[in-house]
Amino acid sequence: MTKSPSDTTALPGQPHVARRDGQLWVEGVPLAALAREHGTPLFVYSKQWMLDALAAYRRGFAGRDALVCYAMKANSSLGILHVFAQAGCGFDIVSGGELARALAAGAEPSKIIFSGVGKSRPEMRAALAAGIGCFNVESEEELDVLNEVALAHGARAKVSIRINPDVDPKTHPYISTGLKGNKFGIAHSRALHAYRHAAALPGLEVTGIDCHIGSQITEAAPYLDAMERVLDLVTAIEAAGIRLAHIDFGGGLGIDYNGDTPPAADDLWRQLLARLDARGFGDRKLIIEPGRSLVGNAGVCVTEVLFTKPGEEHNFCIVDAAMNDLPRPAMYQAFHRIEAVDAGGHGAPRRYDVVGPVCESGDWLGRDRELDVRAGDLLAVLSAGAYCMSMSSNYNTRNRAAEVLVSGERAALIRQRETVQDQLRSESVADPSAFR
Ligand code: PLP
Repeated sequence: MTKSPSDTTALPGQPHVARRDGQLWVEGVPLAALAREHGTPLFVYSKQWMLDALAAYRRGFAGRDALVCYAMKANSSLGILHVFAQAGCGFDIVSGGELARALAAGAEPSKIIFSGVGKSRPEMRAALAAGIGCFNVESEEELDVLNEVALAHGARAKVSIRINPDVDPKTHPYISTGLKGNKFGIAHSRALHAYRHAAALPGLEVTGIDCHIGSQITEAAPYLDAMERVLDLVTAIEAAGIRLAHIDFGGGLGIDYNGDTPPAADDLWRQLLARLDARGFGDRKLIIEPGRSLVGNAGVCVTEVLFTKPGEEHNFCIVDAAMNDLPRPAMYQAFHRIEAVDAGGHGAPRRYDVVGPVCESGDWLGRDRELDVRAGDLLAVLSAGAYCMSMSSNYNTRNRAAEVLVSGERAALIRQRETVQDQLRSESVADPSAFR
């Protein structure tokens, strides 16, 4: 934590979220004022945090031919994508819907790469029509289908094959993707065969190789191991006469949720580039696909305390945000720091389970947290920029939250709070004639 001579204290991992005179601010805007104006639950993002996070990667790649493709699954809100598009980022997409969003946000098509194990033919066609930079192909059947679709489209699809390097990223099992048992990529042992097959297909142009081993990775070692395994393959594939112009090392770098200490992006890349150079591949174009580390600690979710309730085993602090807004605790038992927006308190701190209104015992945001709150107070759920809004749902017919982007002392609404009318718009009762 940094303490300035005034009474401003930045929160750990979130230098743009700070307490001033006891109140939480994002950059130059107090959260309480945003909650008054836009209601709660409300996601608030710091634009500067995102740009700083991007700058750290770019420092690491200084002087190299490298492209940062923001993995937009982390947060695909248009206003967030626009920040990265304007900063010259590419995008890593995993669906036709993400393609449409990226294009709507002003993405340059040639900087879009398309990952994912299950691309449909219409999605492939849309991506070819848009002129995306590369398909990260995840199976041999996908190679055949993409070849067919590309030939029918009169195009050659640029492809990179996602390799499963069988490296343990030492993270939660649901967010490990580079182990033998995971559904992602083509097994290391099949890779050369798959490349030979791809190179022989007339609708495909092999341009690179790709791997992504998992998410919320907090050590450099799994990346270094994966790099060795990928470079072994590059050597073998090129010995078979197939030149790989780019190497894509995926995303996965973790953030500080609760005292986590992932390497800084520039430090990590200094280590990886030294290894790449030592193996003689320093001339290749590099692509990376970071998601969480570009947005995770840019965001907070502001929520209002509805009730406090003593229980026989736990006290409950019931708030108006829930697992449909912030699914990570329910899905992965993930930890988010939770702080009162106004640190003033009421002189009665207690330990609470912070829970939402959804009718599931799994609907909790934080367990056993010491808070000094009453109904009507505001709480901030921290590190809520990644895999929160983009994973939100309408479960219990709850409207999706509003979102605000802050830059300096200015704030802009980038998503209106959803209404029940929005939710009902695409539904209808069955037409009785359908059952006659
Ligand atoms: N690339 C691919 C293929 C992914 O599946 C993911 C997420 O799991 C990412 C990139 C982004 O990962 P992260 O948000 O951990 O950087």
